[in-house]
Amino acid sequence: MALTGLEIYKLLPKTNCKKCGRATCLAFAMQLAQKKAELKDCPDVSDEAKSKLGEASAPPIKLVTIGTGDNQVKIGEENVLFRHDEKFYHPTGVSVTIGDDLDDGAFKDRLDRINNLKFTRVGTDIEIDLISIQDKSGDASKFAERTKEVCGNTHLSLILDSTSVDNMRAALEVCADKKPLIHGANSDNWEPMAALAKEKGCPLSVSAPSLEELADLTEKIKGVGVDDLVLHQSANNTKDVLQGLTKIRRAALRKSFRPLGYPALTYMGNGNPGREIASASAFIAKYAGVVVVDSCEPWQIMPLLTVRQNIFTDPQKPVQVQPKLYEVGQVNEDSPVLFTTNFSLTYYTVEGEVEASRVPSYILAVETEGTSVLTAYSGDKLNEDVIAKAMANAQLDEKVKHKKLIIPGLVAVLSAKIQEKTKWEALVGPKEASGLPTYLKTTWH
Ligand code: SF4
Repeated sequence: MALTGLEIYKLLPKTNCKKCGRATCLAFAMQLAQKKAELKDCPDVSDEAKSKLGEASAPPIKLVTIGTGDNQVKIGEENVLFRHDEKFYHPTGVSVTIGDDLDDGAFKDRLDRINNLKFTRVGTDIEIDLISIQDKSGDASKFAERTKEVCGNTHLSLILDSTSVDNMRAALEVCADKKPLIHGANSDNWEPMAALAKEKGCPLSVSAPSLEELADLTEKIKGVGVDDLVLHQSANNTKDVLQGLTKIRRAALRKSFRPLGYPALTYMGNGNPGREIASASAFIAKYAGVVVVDSCEPWQIMPLLTVRQNIFTDPQKPVQVQPKLYEVGQVNEDSPVLFTTNFSLTYYTVEGEVEASRVPSYILAVETEGTSVLTAYSGDKLNEDVIAKAMANAQLDEKVKHKKLIIPGLVAVLSAKIQEKTKWEALVGPKEASGLPTYLKTTWH
């Protein structure tokens, strides 16, 4: 049971020494109760108090790590229900299934396709994190053989999906050093599965028909010394899974209900890739730690990773590119010069359209604290002074000889002021970036 701020205060040194960065011990206690501080920030807390406060200072949702090294996946340890209240910290792991019953050629082909699910979006590399090996054959040696094959041919972390303790043990014999997620504990097999997880030091996924039974099961498993748990949520429809995920998150954050204070995993394969990806996208938004999907085509996975990329940014910090002059293609002194803002989405949209035009161009990304063109203009972060300064910093006068600047059509109103300030001719470009290829090919001279 979580302690109140006053109960925590009674256990602190009460010296108000400020070493924790707070003005008083009481302020620190209140923040600790709200999970906005960590006990380790107070260097003088006694060992006795530490053990009593351990529960109160633990994160409401446990951090669970799947895998090892650079590709390990960390899930959980989230503090808020709503992203705009703070931010979501640990991006949902995306996992794609592979069945151990595929024939050799199909298995290799699917594994290759899964390994290649990598993309670049708004200047960032994005890819899936995990591969879920499903024990569809029911044969321990087959499951172990396929697990070994995946292990030797992927950089992704692993989920072993089987409710058979014998088959799970066989697969773990060939990959336990990779610390896979053991996906398969339920009310029938939890004792041997928990023993396996403990023996191999692997996280364990737990399933139950209801949240009450799930909470009972996690308490039992924790009681035998296994606490790196993942709560499996599965149902026939998106609504029920979302409800389960939301109840788990609320119970953990609002009620500090420890038996459900773990990250969740969803799997809702239904043979319809469109629906599967739409459902998985909803689960990423609320509140899956891992989503497992059968879909493995780039056009299916890219939207999912795009949703994740957007959800797991800090809503108070727009994603920005470095404000500077960028070259697209083999530019020369006659190449057109466009400006836009340093908001990543805006910049990369413009860059993509310029690339598509095949007209080598300069793009000046103007510092607007990562806001879009209209937002920056209306907040007076984009005006003739800011643009003139960016042009001077980029030494545009030395790079091109034509002295013409293509400005976004959305800020056509700035054209006269820019001309007056910079002595460059301001050419009003299209309002939408999608108009740039035509503009550069037909209007630009
Ligand atoms: S460091 Fe510890 S003793 Fe000092 S003010 Fe903070 S909580 Fe109190």
